[in-house]
This record gives sequence, C-alpha cells and structure tokens, in this order.
Amino acid sequence: MDMAFVEVCLRMILVFVLSWTILHVTNRKKKKATKLADVATEERREGGPDVIIVGAGVGGSALAYALAKDGRRVHVIERDMREPVRMMGEFMQPGGRLLLSKLGLQDCLEEIDAQKSTGLRLFKDGKETVACFPVDTNFPYEPSGRFFHNGRFVQRLRQKASSLPNVRLEEGTVRSLIEEKGVVKGVTYKNSSGEETTSFAPLTVVCDGCHSNLRRSLNDNNAEVTAYEIGYISRNCRLEQPDKLHLIMAKPSFAMLYQVSSTDVRCNFELLSKNLPSVSNGEMASFVKNSIAPQVPLKLRKTFLKGLDEGSHIKITQAKRMPATLSRKKGVIVLGDAFNMRHPVIASGMMVLLSDILILSRLLKHLGNLGDENKVSEVMKSFYVLRKPMSATVNTLGDSFWQVLIASTDEAKEAMRQGCFDYLSSGGFRTSGLMALIGGMNPRPLSLFYHLFVISLSSIGQLLSPFPTPLRVWHSLRLLDLCLKMLVPHLKAEGIGQMLSPTNAAAYRKSYMAATVV
Ligand SMILES: Cc1cc2nc3c(=O)[nH]c(=O)nc-3n(C[C@H](O)[C@H](O)[C@H](O)COP(=O)(O)OP(=O)(O)OC[C@H]3O[C@@H](n4cnc5c(N)ncnc54)[C@H](O)[C@@H]3O)c2cc1C
Repeated sequence: MDMAFVEVCLRMILVFVLSWTILHVTNRKKKKATKLADVATEERREGGPDVIIVGAGVGGSALAYALAKDGRRVHVIERDMREPVRMMGEFMQPGGRLLLSKLGLQDCLEEIDAQKSTGLRLFKDGKETVACFPVDTNFPYEPSGRFFHNGRFVQRLRQKASSLPNVRLEEGTVRSLIEEKGVVKGVTYKNSSGEETTSFAPLTVVCDGCHSNLRRSLNDNNAEVTAYEIGYISRNCRLEQPDKLHLIMAKPSFAMLYQVSSTDVRCNFELLSKNLPSVSNGEMASFVKNSIAPQVPLKLRKTFLKGLDEGSHIKITQAKRMPATLSRKKGVIVLGDAFNMRHPVIASGMMVLLSDILILSRLLKHLGNLGDENKVSEVMKSFYVLRKPMSATVNTLGDSFWQVLIASTDEAKEAMRQGCFDYLSSGGFRTSGLMALIGGMNPRPLSLFYHLFVISLSSIGQLLSPFPTPLRVWHSLRLLDLCLKMLVPHLKAEGIGQMLSPTNAAAYRKSYMAATVV
C-alpha cells in the first residue's frame, strides 16, 4: 500500500478521534451545566434561598440576621456549630456597639458575662497613663466598649439569626462554588451526615474568615502574615481596673491584659519572628516567664503568670494584613476577614465588618431581584466607596499603631514610640481625639492624618531638644519619612480621593452613625 495513503488515513483517524473527544467533553459539560441550572430553577420554584452565606462566624451570622429581617430567605452553611474557642474578636469598640444596635443585635452582648471597658491603661518604661473614650456629644451611644469570650458572642449571634423563620442555619463544610459562565450560582458542600450536596441561590456571600479557601478564586489579593499573637487565660482573677485594656509597650512588641469575663483575664503578647518557641515542649512557657513577664508591671505580673502556672492552654494566632478588593466574579460577595484584614492591635475587625454589613444590607434592601448580576455589581461598587471612612480609618490606624508599638534601637522609631505614649498621656483634646478614632466613634481618615502628623511633629520636637544638632536633624527627617511610609501604602491601597474626601466621611456619619435607627 502507498505510504502517503496510509499517512492520510492515520491523519483522518486522528482528527476524528480528537473531534469526537472534544465534542463528547463539551456535551458532558453542557449536560452538567443544564443539570445544575435545572436544579437551581427547581430550588427556586420550591422556595429555595435568596442568599447563601458561607460561614456563621461574626459576619455570616450578623449578615444572615440583617438580610432575613429584610425578608430574604437565607441559607447559612457553617462548618462547626460548636462554641468557638478562639483568641480573637474579644473586644467590641464603642463604635462597634453602636453599629450592633443599628443592626438590632445589641442584645447579643448580653448574658455572656461581657465586661464594660472605658478605655486604655498604657505602660511604658515604668510609667503609666490612662486614656478614656471621650464623652462626645456627637457620638449617639454610650461611649464604652465590651470585653467578652468571642465564642459566647458568636453563639448569641447564631441563635439570633436562626430565631428568624426565613434563616436556615445548617452544619456543613462548603467545598466549592458552583459557577456558570463566570457567574456563581451556588455551592457544593458536605452536610453533617457526610453527604456531598449542593445549594443554589441568586447570591452567595463568602464569609469564611481569615483562612478562607474560597476567596482565592474570587480576589487577586494575598494576605500577609505580619506577626504572631500568643495568649492564654488566667482564671479566677480580676484586674485592679477591669474596665481598662492594659497595654504594655514591651520588647519586641506589646503585651496585653484584659478582663474577658467576671473571672477570666486574657493575657497575650506579640512576637514578630515565625521561629516561635515550641508550646508542646514547654519552651514557650519558659520564654514567657523569662522574657515577657519581667516586662509586665509588678502590679499585673501575678495575674499574668497565673494562667501559665496553672497550665492554661497557650494559643497562637497569626496577625494578617490584606487590602480589600472586589470579587472578579458575579453572583458572589466576599465579606469579613476573607475580604479585608488589618493588624488586630486596635481590636476593630468586627467593627469594620458590622459597618460593612450595615451598608451592604441597606443597599441590597432596595434591590428586588438579587439575581440581577449587573445591579448587584453596581451595588458593590457603591459599597466599596461608602465603606471607606470606617474601613480606611481602621486599616490605617491599626497598621500604623502596630508599627509604632514595635520596639527598636533606631532613635527615630523610638522617638515616635515615646511620642505616641506622651500623646495619649497628654489628656485633653489630643487624647480624646485619638481615643475617639480608636473607639470607632469618629471614623474620619483626615482626623487620623491630623493626629499622626501632630504625634510626629511633637516627637520631632523632643528629638531636636535641647538644641538641634546635625544628627538630631537627620533622625527627625527619618521620623517624618517613617510617618509617610505608614500612610502612603494605605493611601495607595484605599484610593487617595476616597480616603481624603471629607464629604464621604460626613455622609458616612450621617447615614450610619446618626442617633436615630433608620
Ligand atoms: C489575634 C486577633 C485578635 C483580634 N481581636 C479583635 C478584637 O478584639 N476586636 C475586633 O473587633 N476584632 C478583632 N479581631 C478581628 C476579628 O476577630 C475578625 O475581624 C472577625 O472575627 C472576622 O469575622 P468573620 O465572620 O469574617 O470570620 P470568623 O468570625 O472567623 O467566621 C468564619 C466562619 O466561617 C466558618 N467556615 C470557614 N470555612 C468554612 C467552610 N468551608 N464552610 C463552612 N463554614 C466555614 C468558620 O467555622 C467560622 O465560623 C482580631 C483578629 C485577630 C487575628
């Protein structure tokens, strides 16, 4: 047989096999998509949910309540319904309490043995000062925060959400998002009986926390681990001033004590390197006793050591930073720690999240059909701008305050650190202004810039005294540079216009922090 004829035959067979395979695969995909669409349509006909929420932590539970109050049918899928035992989200700022009340969730801070907090007690190099949340006539709520066990608060939020008949709170682990032509239609999940199953809804909200796996397919942003928070509980004790968060400016970073219940004190501190002493072989406990405890003021040291001596479980939690970006895909919204994170030192992540939920739920309220992807995208663009006064203030303040707290041998950094302590000690307008920012009582980035610059200038004044030498001038210039390095990345990430617009901040206050509950 002619070789050329054989070659032509072989080529034809190859083309046939390839075409058949492609056709077969495409058909299977089409069939699968049609099947999914059929299931989705069927679910809608049978009164399926309007919204699926992945995760019933702080954000998922609060959002479920807000959306269900507006008449939406909500299906919440939570991996673990047991009370979480975590070392995060243990303090609600005054601003956060106001937002909770706007959402109708203020009673979730009741019956959990939460402790009132009126401000900070700050310690540095043998000196101490107290800085209180101001009694500000513009802030329409009692100016105090609350300390509590995070798990108890989360359980209260879950109970509150599931008390509404249109919320279905189910235990299950979400595996993946179901997509059709770039639009998220629902989720696949493993329910509590171990069965793989699906849920469909016009809108899916991913609220699965700081370790979110689902976020990766939706956003381009990466979380950066900035430090490690190490802590434990000292039981059956009470601080001398239980209404203050005790912040110790130590080395290499800060240590904290606060009263999380009438009998329990949270003790924690921060380390910067990822080479942490091992908890399991006792190295960590020895490290705390030998390196951190000696820096804790004598009057607090007994309480600080009690938990360690009694073998309280030592927990390690990563502190992460991640700017917010909107989802690339339609039919889905990402919220909470899966969306935006900042250093937790000012304890405000939940406040930003509640602010986001209030804004978003009000915007979505006016949308009849959550399945209108273009309208939802428009809503998300507005949401992204409206959230800035609160989110940009907290993100910038959290990261800047953290950087200032890190001990250093660099004179410029140390001057800034001392300047911050002096500023909070000075009393009057300076202290109350900064505390109003920390407490979320005045979410205005411009006000934050003002305080940061005044702290920098007064630190420079200290650096230059008693008279300026070339070296002191050099350190002063570097201090100014440090201040700019804290601000510029945030200005870039948040958007200069959105961050600096005074009208944005005024509109935020008027819409979300006004005295009347809208
Ligand atoms: C060390 C530290 C301390 C902090 N302290 C404070 C503080 O004092 N005050 C404050 O306001 N903020 C604080 N924060 C921030 C705050 O804790 C978070 O911003 C907040 O908890 C985020 O809520 P969330 O709903 O996004 O996530 P979470 O509350 O973590 O909830 C996520 C939920 O999703 C569930 N989940 C995860 N994956 C899946 C899945 N695949 N399927 C189903 N369910 C899933 C989880 O089980 C969890 O219940 C702190 C953060 C850190 C790191």
